[in-house]
Amino acid sequence: MPRGDGLLTHDLDPQHPGPQDACGVFGVWAPGEEVSKLTYFGLYALQHRGQEAAGIAVSDGSSVVVYKDLGLVAQVFDEPTLASLRGHIAIGHARYSTTGASTWENAQPTLRATPPRGPAGGESAATTIALAHNGNLVNTAELARRVAELGITDTNATSDTALVTALLAAKPDLSVEAAALEVLPTLRGAFSFVFMDENTLYAARDPQGVRPLVLGRLERGWVVASETAALDMVGASVVREIEPGELVAIDEHGLRSSRFAVPDPKGCLFEYVYLARPDSTISGRNIYAGRVAIGRALAREYPAEADLVIPVPESGTPAAIGYAEESGITYGAGLVKNAYVGRTFIQPSQTIRQLGIRLKLNPLRDNVRGKRVVVVDDSIVRGNTQRAIIRMLREAGAVEVHVRISSPPVKWPCFYGIDFATKAELLANGLDTEGIRRSIGADSLGYISLPGLIAATEQPKTRLCRACFDGEYPIDLPADNVIGKHVLEGLAKTASSSGGRAPRREADSSHPGENARRAGNDLQAGGGDRVAASPGGADALLRP
Ligand code: SF4
Repeated sequence: MPRGDGLLTHDLDPQHPGPQDACGVFGVWAPGEEVSKLTYFGLYALQHRGQEAAGIAVSDGSSVVVYKDLGLVAQVFDEPTLASLRGHIAIGHARYSTTGASTWENAQPTLRATPPRGPAGGESAATTIALAHNGNLVNTAELARRVAELGITDTNATSDTALVTALLAAKPDLSVEAAALEVLPTLRGAFSFVFMDENTLYAARDPQGVRPLVLGRLERGWVVASETAALDMVGASVVREIEPGELVAIDEHGLRSSRFAVPDPKGCLFEYVYLARPDSTISGRNIYAGRVAIGRALAREYPAEADLVIPVPESGTPAAIGYAEESGITYGAGLVKNAYVGRTFIQPSQTIRQLGIRLKLNPLRDNVRGKRVVVVDDSIVRGNTQRAIIRMLREAGAVEVHVRISSPPVKWPCFYGIDFATKAELLANGLDTEGIRRSIGADSLGYISLPGLIAATEQPKTRLCRACFDGEYPIDLPADNVIGKHVLEGLAKTASSSGGRAPRREADSSHPGENARRAGNDLQAGGGDRVAASPGGADALLRP
């Protein structure tokens, strides 16, 4: 299905998406460096985590400017735009919507200015906060109530992230750091935040550390990112992970670390299977090595009499290599992925849409013809993708198709930042393995066991979230009617409608004076409207 902005999704079968990644966040504090370009390349490395919208905020020490839009990183930013985003601090975000619709208002970083301090606002100027979020909060309805009780009614966005930004900005008598130490303990759910004001870069991670967040060092500064691969991309060395329950602040005085909660690590098990890049490392485990180990375990648990092991590219590749190594069956390519078809603005017609997965995958007929094939994939969500792949391989001449899956059956939805499907849509929720095998038309089907998967991660079971596989949610969930992706649209308590504006390229500025000029530069580069956050308020549209 095409997205609201006309883009195709990155899924193999756009009509039946697989697991949708959370988001990618990146932050840099580096005087003398081109921080917006470092952030651009950091986001480029994290593009797999979110493909609906991208944004970068920068500060030059006196003002914070945000530029964001719907689309991929390379579609949102160009050279003139990046050149206009000058400063020494930057944060960036690549979004997949986990709370709130895929609209411009919900793109990140969010931006908000505190009210000026003092009786008539005369004691000190407003501070502007920009914030980017990976993960999903589960007490969003409660936060919306608190924001409403504070009398804040101008949040254009309908995301949990906008609420957190509003709460941080609602404490003008405190520094942003002190406000964060009050607000962060009240949040429930998954959050890896990078945020900033005019002078300081912050990073914070929920007490469970569900989503990854790592700290890196540049020669002349610091970097935080969702994954280590993004640090590699910008030439930063890995220092350590931001700890669960930790707030880090970085400014001209150096790096300060505070604890806002007792850590209770529950890292997302699905990061090891599918979400993270294979060249990233989480909790000391290299993701590629972990996936190869999963494939090896899968071969031991579910051997097959076959001639060829093939991956479903790209995410099934390391596990397929492991399966082939352990089983001694030849590894080869059987499907070629067109990496670029999901990056076109062309609206597919009904005829083209019916091609489904064929738009993205093409079988290597000479490789599979007459062979008994083992196909290794990372997960089965609804089963449509695997059904189509098996049919395609049989049409290409495969005599047997054995499917091996490098995660256990996905039976429960995720509320911590991954959008699989509703519980009713999950194939494994209503069928046993034999039923699923028949449903997808495979000759045999084997899923890695949960203990086998956990062993491959080299993490203790107690330090992992496994909820989508075993239903044990490590962070308590609220009632059904106050949770879910569109909880704020449903509540309609704090959101104000955008009026259905079309997707566009725009710039935010925090101070309408100086920044209006800077936004004006962006405007020339981007050709859209400009937006400012007025002191005490959120983004407001300024039509030129
Ligand atoms: S429910 Fe699954 S996808 Fe969600 S955080 Fe837990 S392990 Fe990860």
